[in-house]
Amino acid sequence: MDRCDALIVGGGPAGSTCARALSSAGLDVIVVDRRTFPRPKVCAGWVTPPVFRDLGVTPQEYGAGRVCQAIRGFRLGLLGRPPVEVDYGRAVSHGVLRSEFDHYLLERSGARLVLGEPVGGVERAAGGWIINARFRAPVVVGAGGPRCPVARALGLGGRGPLVAALEAEFRLGPEGRALCRVDPERPELYFLPNLEGYGWCFRKGDTLNVGLGREDARGAAAAFAAFVDRLRAAGRIPAVPRERVRGHAYRLWEGAARTLVSDGALVVGDAAGLAHPKSGEGIRPAVESGLLAARTILVARGDYRRSNLEPFCAYLAQQLGPGAPQRSAFAAPVIRVAARVLLGVPALARSVVLDRWFLRRGEAPLSHAAPG
Ligand SMILES: Cc1cc2nc3c(=O)[nH]c(=O)nc-3n(C[C@H](O)[C@H](O)[C@H](O)COP(=O)(O)OP(=O)(O)OC[C@H]3O[C@@H](n4cnc5c(N)ncnc54)[C@H](O)[C@@H]3O)c2cc1C
Repeated sequence: MDRCDALIVGGGPAGSTCARALSSAGLDVIVVDRRTFPRPKVCAGWVTPPVFRDLGVTPQEYGAGRVCQAIRGFRLGLLGRPPVEVDYGRAVSHGVLRSEFDHYLLERSGARLVLGEPVGGVERAAGGWIINARFRAPVVVGAGGPRCPVARALGLGGRGPLVAALEAEFRLGPEGRALCRVDPERPELYFLPNLEGYGWCFRKGDTLNVGLGREDARGAAAAFAAFVDRLRAAGRIPAVPRERVRGHAYRLWEGAARTLVSDGALVVGDAAGLAHPKSGEGIRPAVESGLLAARTILVARGDYRRSNLEPFCAYLAQQLGPGAPQRSAFAAPVIRVAARVLLGVPALARSVVLDRWFLRRGEAPLSHAAPG
């Protein structure tokens, strides 16, 4: 039996950030992931400034030898209506390739890495957990994404709205570059009329990422195909290789969830269902929850009874704010009218949609949310 102080299931941003914080404090940490790294991850790779700040690395440092596309503006609008352009005149966020980003974070975590091993067995043992019948730890962190085996075994995780997303990420050859009018510094966002989802085009160096995410999983493939056809007809993108299309679903933060801890266990990132209700941003809450889980574990000092881990839920609620709003059918017409106004006037698109919903400017930094 291989013993450690903390075992983390899943080596994405949530798991690797938690692992690094615990390893830095002197704990012996094991991260188990079913994949070997670098591994692909379905994601547009849009990273907002708090992520780099919380990771303790600048975009310039991270970008040495890796794709880190500066984003200085956006082209956005309602699908089917003329878009508006917003220019910040300086970098307000960045685009990364998740295969590179996640590999970088995991390699510097300082944890012992067990890669290429799916976690199946999660069993309670005296004073902790036995994982896959060969690892023993007093505390386990479930960071295995939406289908995390720890969350499933213990019945943990949020129950917020499910976002179904499809995307294609592919390298642009010479012909593709000639046909692509998406500016790498100005990604494109196209919202559905009722604001229950949006499509995007992100160009990161020579890589194009086109996707559509929405709260209704029915007909997702047809909606994605129609979105791509519309962009092609408008002359914005080249043909999307069918074999590059991937789908994935994850949950939005629903507000103060109390189902994220158990005796000796916490769930973080997509395993906890923490994506931002308005933007669908999941990397920032993954990193934030990884750090908050680590702080909670360190403060508990080896006594991992549920009552000692519960503060994690309060820290998260404080950091992530109110969850996804309850939508009623009566509100739909009002939302449609509001959406036309918000996305038709550049000043409103910038101050409400971009600054408040997506970049979340003015919100408190993570250090205010928890001790440590
Ligand atoms: C199409 C799409 C576009 C997105 N675009 C953005 C974006 O631009 N910006 C943004 O901020 N967010 C975006 N997101 C959300 C974001 O990708 C996730 O919220 C984020 O990856 C969550 O990180 P995580 O560490 O919790 O999970 P993950 O990154 O999914 O990592 C989970 C890890 O657990 C491992 N694992 C799973 N099961 C097991 C098992 N049984 N045993 C061992 N290991 C296991 C997996 O291999 C994986 O490495 C997007 C999501 C989608 C679907």
